[in-house]
Amino acid sequence: MANPQPDFDAIVIGAGFSGMYMLKSLRDRLGLKVRVYEAGDTVGGTWYWNRYPGARCDSDSYIYCYTFDRQLLQEWQWSERYPEQPEILRYLEHVAQRHDLKRDMQFGTRVTGVRFDDATERWTVGTDRGDTVTARYVIAAVGSLSDSNLPAIKGLDHFKGRWYHTSQFPKEGVDFTNKRVAVIGTGATAVQAIPEIAYQAKQLTVFQRTANYCVPARNGHVDPDVVKARKARYGEIVDTIRSSFFGFELAFIPKSVLETTPEEREKEFDRMWDEGGFAFWLANYQDMFFSAEANRLCADYIERKIRKTVKNPATAEKLIPKGYAYGTKRQPLDSHYYETFNLDNVTLVDAKADGPIEAITEHGIRAGGKEYPADIIVFATGFDAMTGPLKALNVSGRGGARLNDAWKDGPRSYLGLMVAGFPNLFTLTGPQSPSVLSNMPVSIEQHVDWVSDCIAHLESHGKKTIEATPDAQERWVAHVNEIVNMTLMPGANSWYMGANIPGKPRVFLPYLGPEGVGGYRKKCDEVAAGGYEGFVLA
Ligand SMILES: Cc1cc2nc3c(=O)[nH]c(=O)nc-3n(C[C@H](O)[C@H](O)[C@H](O)COP(=O)(O)OP(=O)(O)OC[C@H]3O[C@@H](n4cnc5c(N)ncnc54)[C@H](O)[C@@H]3O)c2cc1C
Repeated sequence: MANPQPDFDAIVIGAGFSGMYMLKSLRDRLGLKVRVYEAGDTVGGTWYWNRYPGARCDSDSYIYCYTFDRQLLQEWQWSERYPEQPEILRYLEHVAQRHDLKRDMQFGTRVTGVRFDDATERWTVGTDRGDTVTARYVIAAVGSLSDSNLPAIKGLDHFKGRWYHTSQFPKEGVDFTNKRVAVIGTGATAVQAIPEIAYQAKQLTVFQRTANYCVPARNGHVDPDVVKARKARYGEIVDTIRSSFFGFELAFIPKSVLETTPEEREKEFDRMWDEGGFAFWLANYQDMFFSAEANRLCADYIERKIRKTVKNPATAEKLIPKGYAYGTKRQPLDSHYYETFNLDNVTLVDAKADGPIEAITEHGIRAGGKEYPADIIVFATGFDAMTGPLKALNVSGRGGARLNDAWKDGPRSYLGLMVAGFPNLFTLTGPQSPSVLSNMPVSIEQHVDWVSDCIAHLESHGKKTIEATPDAQERWVAHVNEIVNMTLMPGANSWYMGANIPGKPRVFLPYLGPEGVGGYRKKCDEVAAGGYEGFVLA
C-alpha cells in the first residue's frame, strides 16, 4: 500500500526568533505545510520565559532584531540601547501578527519524542499533549539557552519561603519589598538582576561561585540623530554584521596589545570602556583570546576598575575573577552591578573565601557553616546550554540510533546544522555553529536561510533526504576543536565548555571560526554551492 501523505511537510520545534522566521520562510517562501510546536503560551522564546527584574538584551537593539523584513527595520522604534524583556517580547508579538504566524503554531505543547522511520523516510513527532504527527522535515528551533539549570542543592524541598529560577519567572512578577532575598549565581543574568533586586529588597545576599569580569553596558536612550543615521544606512549595517566576526559592528584592533605602550593601550581601553557594551570583549586587541600575557593586560584594567568602584577592599577582592582568562566566559554587562556591593543591605558570600553553599535550610541558605536567612531564593544559575534542549527531544534517527547516545561524549555535528544518522533533521544555532558566540539574530537568520535553500534544493531536484556523512562530520568536529584549542577558551569552567552542569562532557559547544560568523557563512554557502558537499542527498 502506498504511504499516505505525511501530516505536514515540516515540523518546527520552538517559537522564538528562530522558529518564527523558520515558519515564515518555509511557509511563505517555499509554500510548505508547516506546524510549529511551542512549550510556552505564545511566541518569543527567551523573551517569553526570562522575566526577571532587569532582563534585557546585551546586543544593541538596532541589530538585535530581524533583518529579513527591511520595512520593519525602518518602522520599529526601540526605546533604549538595550530594551527590556517586555519590549522585545512586544516586538516579537508584532512580527508574529504582521506575518500572520500564529495560525500555524500550537502553544502550550512540548515535543517529547522525535523518531525517524526508515521505511517511510519520515519523522514522527510526539508531544506532551498527545499529538502524534508525521513530517518530512524536522527543524529544531529549541534555542541554545532554553533548558534551565536548577542545581541539585540539598534541602530545597524543605525551604519555607518562595523560590524562582530567573528563566521561569512568574508573569505577574515578584515583589521583593521588605524581603530578605538570596540570589544564587553571578553570571550575565544575575549581573542584570542583582542591582534591581537590591533596590527593592530589605536584605540581599549574593552567593558567588565564580567571579565574573563585568564591563559597563551604558544603557540609555539613543540619540534620535544616531537612530536616523542608522536607518539611512541599514543595508550597509546588515552587510557588515553578516560578514563580521561576531555579528556586530565591531572588529578587533588589528595588532598585539603587547606591541603597545602602557599609555597607548590605556587610551584604547578607556575608549572601549566608555563605549560600553561588548566593545571591550569583542573589539579588543586581536591577541586577547590567544595570548595569556596579552589577556592579562586587559584583565588588569578591569581589576583596577573593580577596586576603584567597590569600597570595601575585601569585597572587591572577592569580586575579582581568578583562575581563568578574561573573555573566556559569557561577558556580563554591568549597570551599577559593582556599586550594588557598596550598599548596606547587600552581602556577598563567595564560595572560596566564605565557603560553598552546603544546603538550603527551612529559612535560608547555609554556606561555609553559616546560615544566611532568606524569604525568597532566586536561582540565576543559567542553562544546560546548547545540547540540553536538543537532548530533551528524545530523538531517534536512522536504525533507531539515539541522538543522546551519539552525543554521550559531547555533541558531534556537521556545520552545527545536521548530525550524521539523522536525515532531514536540522538544528538551528546548534552545537558547533557560531550560535551563542555571536549576535544571535544574525546567526539565526543565516541558518534559517540556509535550511530553506537546502529544502528548496531537495524539492526542486526530486530528492527525499539529506544527511551529513560521518566523514564530513568528523572533519568538522576536529576543525572546531583544533581552532578553539588555539585559544584560551578551553581553560575556563564556562557553560561554553559545559562546565556548569555536573557530569556534562567538557567539550567546547559553539564554533569559534578563524573568520568568525562571516567566514562560517561563507563556508556554509560554499558547501551548498558545491552540491552539498559532505552531505548525501538521496
Ligand atoms: C537572559 C538572556 C539574554 C540574552 N541576551 C542576548 C543578547 O543580548 N544577544 C544575543 O544575541 N542573544 C542573547 N540571548 C540569547 C537568546 O537566546 C537568543 O538571542 C535568541 O532569543 C534565541 O532565539 P531562539 O528562537 O533560537 O531560541 P529561544 O528564544 O530560546 O526559543 C526556543 C523556544 O523553543 C521552545 N522549546 C524548546 N524545547 C521545546 C520542546 N521540546 N517543545 C516545544 N517547545 C520547545 C522554548 O520554549 C522556547 O520558547 C539571551 C539569552 C538570555 C537567556
